[in-house]
Amino acid sequence: MAKLKILEFPDPRLRTRAAPVETVDDALRTLIDDMFETMYEAPGIGLAATQVDVHRRLLVADVSSEKNEPYVLINPEILEKDGVAVSEEGCLSVPGYYEEVERAEHIRVRFLDRDGNEVEMEAEGLLAVCIQHEMDHLEGKLFVDYLSEAKRGRIRKRLLRDRRHQAADVA
Ligand code: ZN
Repeated sequence: MAKLKILEFPDPRLRTRAAPVETVDDALRTLIDDMFETMYEAPGIGLAATQVDVHRRLLVADVSSEKNEPYVLINPEILEKDGVAVSEEGCLSVPGYYEEVERAEHIRVRFLDRDGNEVEMEAEGLLAVCIQHEMDHLEGKLFVDYLSEAKRGRIRKRLLRDRRHQAADVA
């Protein structure tokens, strides 16, 4: 397994709309394993392929505290959503920032699992929020897009400044 590099806002590659996965094969399963390793090490509760610069409709998630309930969603599609849940979200591509975002409280989602089988699943609470957040990534959308332009601008500016400082430390 290998740890992958996570793209960070405002990297324009995060704005790419991902294309459907055509075949679920060993190459894809290797990518899935690498995405889990990257997500657990970060640490995070979800990771979309877009964030590691692979523009295919694929995401991984594990919201359990024991880190033993991994989910792989390939070509996910939301069939139903209801209710409203507001929760504080963060993102591995927007490190250090947490803001309240409104999502559906409950979703029903259809996807392919890591063996290519079609699955339908109900999710609520944190898992539902996480899946909706990661599915946004596949559309090139980030949680900061739900914030005001001024707030998003401030986050962008600070992240760019922090990165310049990091680059200076290394040089
Ligand atoms: Zn994210």
